[in-house]
Amino acid sequence: MIAAQIKTFAAKLPKQVTLVAVSKTKPNADLLIAYEAGQRDFGENKVQELCQKAESLPNDIRWHMIGHLQRNKVKYIAAFVHLIHGVDSERLLNEINKQGAKNNRVIDVLIQIHIAEEATKFGFSYDEAAKLFEGNNDLKHVNIVGLMAMATFTNDESQIKREFSTLSAFFDQWKEKRSLNVLSMGMSNDYNIAIAEGSTMIRVGSLIFGSRN
Ligand SMILES: *Cc1c(COP(=O)(O)O)cnc(C)c1O
Repeated sequence: MIAAQIKTFAAKLPKQVTLVAVSKTKPNADLLIAYEAGQRDFGENKVQELCQKAESLPNDIRWHMIGHLQRNKVKYIAAFVHLIHGVDSERLLNEINKQGAKNNRVIDVLIQIHIAEEATKFGFSYDEAAKLFEGNNDLKHVNIVGLMAMATFTNDESQIKREFSTLSAFFDQWKEKRSLNVLSMGMSNDYNIAIAEGSTMIRVGSLIFGSRN
């Protein structure tokens, strides 16, 4: 099931779109099936689960931290994480820089933008992100490579489309100036809209691994 699912899914994607297989709550066996089908990018939203999986699964997996990240937990993933999607404050950015320095590496991150109408979702506002990009960024061990966002949880596709297209326009506005090349938007229920609006990275879980409890 998973192998067939991920192969057909990945084959349909446009070349410029990277698929992050969101494996949160799923057992290692499920990830291995996807891995053997050729999948290398996996996304988790909890630090402890990410670390446990990284320890026991193949070394060439690229681990994406897609959930809300607390500053005091950056140190656990700093040595190996491939991309941190949910950077939602300058304090977190500074902590990632500090842990990057300790590990002698430059950690790639995405700035999370709050585009949804729900108050509970994390992220910078467009104004805050613009201020961050205007500032002179002298952090040596963190590299902002793009943006990430989650649309409002709704059946109203026109609203989702509007939110993604606004984000996409903001991305275009900054991509040259700040060398951004990753626009992480789109999940199981809205990845089609996201790709049509310019996504370069989708984070898909339930469509590949089945629904979570
Ligand atoms: C769980 C999760 C996803 C994947 O959700 P699905 O609906 O299962 O595709 C994507 N992004 C984030 C940030 C998530 O937490």
